Amino acid sequence: MRVLGIETSCDETAAAVVERDEAGHGRILSNVVLSQIAEHEPYGGVVPEIAARAHVEALDRLVARALEEADTPLERIDAVAATAGPGLIGGLIVGLMTAKALALAAGKPFHAINHLEGHALTARLTDNLPFPYLLLLVSGGHTQMILVRGLGQYERLGTTIDDALGEAFDKTAKLLGLPYPGGPAVEKAALSGDPTRFALPRPLKGEARLDFSFSGLKTAVRQAAAELVPLGDQDVADICASFQAAVADTLTDRVSRSLARFRESFPDVAEPTLVVAGGVAANRMLRIGLETLCAKHGFRFLAPPHILCTDNAAMIAWAGAEHAAFKQGDPLDIAPRSRWPLDQAALPLIGAGRRG
Ligand code: ATP
Ligand code: MG
Ligand code: FE
Repeated sequence: MRVLGIETSCDETAAAVVERDEAGHGRILSNVVLSQIAEHEPYGGVVPEIAARAHVEALDRLVARALEEADTPLERIDAVAATAGPGLIGGLIVGLMTAKALALAAGKPFHAINHLEGHALTARLTDNLPFPYLLLLVSGGHTQMILVRGLGQYERLGTTIDDALGEAFDKTAKLLGLPYPGGPAVEKAALSGDPTRFALPRPLKGEARLDFSFSGLKTAVRQAAAELVPLGDQDVADICASFQAAVADTLTDRVSRSLARFRESFPDVAEPTLVVAGGVAANRMLRIGLETLCAKHGFRFLAPPHILCTDNAAMIAWAGAEHAAFKQGDPLDIAPRSRWPLDQAALPLIGAGRRG
């Protein structure tokens, strides 16, 4: 079946067509993403009203392009899926209304998708990945360790008690005068930096619970930067490298505990897998750190390609396709939700027929 997906929860306007075959394998037929970085750059972050307007202006063209590139007219689409939350409410309304209208016009089912579920299931689109698996979701708004037991069954093992990791990257970049969005800028600057120059904190390290905390790290970066004013390029590079080293160390600590927890929960899983998803998963250094850790603990490591880590509609279309295999579609009066925890994204209709 072919699903048209729409994503407008933040500052990317995106449309995509994805195919899912009988065996559950996925294929991306088109994946169009229009980033609003230029619109928001002057403000150093996303301005909700600007985002909503930009989605309105771009979305119909993007949908047309996604259908065209997929060589699939609307009549040949089997379902339409859109992000219904969590995210900025103005953007969500734009995407949701468009998807409902298209579904209604084409007489096809509509699926309301949780954006985080899109991130969580992406690795099943790109790889042959059965349930259950362990997921580290690291994005602009979320930092969570999740046990993905099955479709619609997401158990949160840990979450951040303050800032999200992507947010910590963005705030660090802003403090250092680096461009928005901060993640890629910090990663680039860190390449020529000394990761040992600053001893930044590793919050919650060594604790048994699987939560994260990043606000202390951000404060430490602010203090280090304040002592060095005016900051030279090498100072910035060294702070970025030290920041990334602290993040990598923290993640390693939390994740290695989670791997152990997974083994306890599923001692019989032959090939235990850690998936990393969300925008921060695009970070090369963090990927390498996680990959090394997985190799050490006998886990398979999966990280989707960069373009599928940051926001996109292929992941929404794919989640729609996974839902479509189990239910008819969602009612057209479903409302957008600015807050929508992943563990509340359960599919009530899923029964014994769940495929691995
Ligand atoms: P959420 O998915 O939680 O709703 P979001 O959709 O805004 O939030 P994503 O688009 O998944 O988040 O990710 C964006 C975040 O990823 C930003 O904070 C950005 O700085 C970060 N990011 C992107 N590339 C990198 C990178 N190479 N290294 C570190 N962080 C990165
Ligand atoms: Mg974004
Ligand atoms: Fe996202």
